[in-house]
Amino acid sequence: MNLHTNLQSAGYRVTPNAKGRYVNGLIRLMGDLSAMDFLRDDYMVRLLSNAQLRKGKAFTYKQLQQLANPQDAIDRFQEQMQTLTARGMFLRGYSLQCPVCDLATWYGLSEVGEHVTCQGCRFDFQMPLTLPFAYRPNRLLAEALKSGAMTILLTALWLYDQDNDLSWQTESVVHQGDLTTNIDILALMNGDLWLVECKDNFKTSDRALDDLLEQLRAGLKIADDIGAKQSLFATLYAKTVPERLTEFLATNDITLLARTDLLR
Ligand SMILES: [Zn+2]
Repeated sequence: MNLHTNLQSAGYRVTPNAKGRYVNGLIRLMGDLSAMDFLRDDYMVRLLSNAQLRKGKAFTYKQLQQLANPQDAIDRFQEQMQTLTARGMFLRGYSLQCPVCDLATWYGLSEVGEHVTCQGCRFDFQMPLTLPFAYRPNRLLAEALKSGAMTILLTALWLYDQDNDLSWQTESVVHQGDLTTNIDILALMNGDLWLVECKDNFKTSDRALDDLLEQLRAGLKIADDIGAKQSLFATLYAKTVPERLTEFLATNDITLLARTDLLR
């Protein structure tokens, strides 16, 4: 179902953006939305929030486990990483250093054999005798994470729990006159339209909150124009949401989906 027609018939022009394509690409890679369930574990959010990992840095399994710190869920984490690697969300390879030009970089399994051609100086060097695998996120995963896909996917999972026949679209850029804004999620849930603003994190300075409230106001206007039943604000923000924001949400009848609602 194309939910954009609701926007178009209210006089909005809609264009997709890259973030939405990243999100859809990840779901496609995993098979379906419910396969993104691993995101609901706080240790996975911790791992996938790591700045180095998001830059594409490779880690050994032991390092990944340390970054995630799954505590009593080590077996579960191991199973999840096995699945994510099988699906190509994480790529398996080796971190190798060339003995000639010194370049230290990551090589995928298909690039290595007894001898490896240096990605820099093209020298053929022999693999070390012992070396653990190194895993790095697929580029799509890294880009999606940087663009805020985690909260979008977690919110979609939450919506899906409320209605298994959910229709939803992510990341539409909406234009009308001077207004250009993003709708993170537009969903048809239990027969009603829902409009969701998602933020992994946000700054709490007065200026930053001004901007956030402005964005929420734009969303409210669109929700009103298209007859959306409910607006949601979803965030993985780890501290107490500032009072100014909670007041705004309450006054405008926007439901807050906080980190504790999104995670297991
Ligand atoms: Zn080299």
